[in-house]
Amino acid sequence: MNVHEYQAKELLKAHGIAVPEGHAALSVEEAVAAAKKLPGPLYVVKAQIHAGGRGKGKFKELPEDAKGGVRLAKSLEEVESHAREMLGNTLVTVQTGAEGKQVNRLYVTDGVDIAKEYYFSLLVDRASGRVAMVASTEGGMDIEAVAHDTPEKITTITIDPAQGFMPHHARALAFGLKLEGDLNKQAQRLAKQLYDAFMATDAAMLEINPLVETEDDKLTVLDAKMSFDSNALFRHKDIAEMRDETEEDPSEVEASEYDLAYIKLDGNIGCMVNGAGLAMATMDIIKLNGAFPANFLDVGGGATTEKVTAAFKIILKDPAVEGILVNIFGGIMKCDVIANGIVQAAKDVNLQVPLVVRLEGTNVEAGKEILDNSGLAIVSADDLGDAARKIVAEVKQAA
Ligand code: ADP
Ligand code: MG
Repeated sequence: MNVHEYQAKELLKAHGIAVPEGHAALSVEEAVAAAKKLPGPLYVVKAQIHAGGRGKGKFKELPEDAKGGVRLAKSLEEVESHAREMLGNTLVTVQTGAEGKQVNRLYVTDGVDIAKEYYFSLLVDRASGRVAMVASTEGGMDIEAVAHDTPEKITTITIDPAQGFMPHHARALAFGLKLEGDLNKQAQRLAKQLYDAFMATDAAMLEINPLVETEDDKLTVLDAKMSFDSNALFRHKDIAEMRDETEEDPSEVEASEYDLAYIKLDGNIGCMVNGAGLAMATMDIIKLNGAFPANFLDVGGGATTEKVTAAFKIILKDPAVEGILVNIFGGIMKCDVIANGIVQAAKDVNLQVPLVVRLEGTNVEAGKEILDNSGLAIVSADDLGDAARKIVAEVKQAA
């Protein structure tokens, strides 16, 4: 789960980390009121969307030369006019895709006199199975580009979970930022605080780009992007409440209400599968047959008719879907029960696209019979390869 910059900063602040003062705003009036609480005379009005690159972003509704989603303001009047221009408009950045994201919230924050920008991040690194911490002298830039062009400017360390964060980790990072004297000490202290905050919140990713050195020699967090392990949210009620569903794909939100694991992808073959491993294998074999999956969908072990129907509806809401492949292993559930669920769901949603079903497991013969006698144009398949070939052929034929 992702949160907004202002929410990430609230969490960091609660862990004792220095962030510039600021307040969230949902309207022009709130933005001005937020600015009035700040010392001034320099304010920054920042669009709150779940995507980076806001500063260099463009608003769809504004002229090409209009300012982006992070704007300096030298007076309350300027705060007001920036807020008016941004709220309700669509910001397109390198991370939003061409459709952009509507700006519904702003963050009005203290303007900082920046001497230098750095990069700092933490993430769960799958390769090492540890939390990795990344520091770079190249702040405010796209870190992938830095990693590609000048990898020597990036310092990466990983933390052994049994040992925890050690002083030598802090030194490696602070010296990686080429900091000296008191700034080096500040960086060491900050690295430890960030690691502690990351662990305490069950974060999956924390990116500070830029971390800045101010003109009066203080390190401060200027931008913060944070995401959390959804499976750990039950023990962080405060973070779970930060969820902003308007930032998420509506189909994914609906799927989570039915406890379905659904992720939208770019292809045209909708997949309904039980079990994450089987879902991955199904997606692979669709690709092997020259087509692309429209989604990942795991209906779970105990799929009911209700769940299957909800899953069908979610898949069909995607206008890109030209065919559906159902691949279910009847282990805990019996194939005849699943077949009844599929027939019911196909009737309920008045299915118009080709549907290939592959069932395996308990009562498979009875299940196939139900599908064959349903009067619906359901193509039944014998195994995974057969199923993938059939759905790809059906979709090609229909096109
Ligand atoms: P994004 O990464 O989405 O573009 P940032 O928060 O990193 O958004 O802001 C972009 C740039 O705007 C920063 O690199 C920094 O130069 C400037 N900036 C952001 N916040 C402030 C601030 N509080 N004071 C001064 N400059 C800022
Ligand atoms: Mg940034």
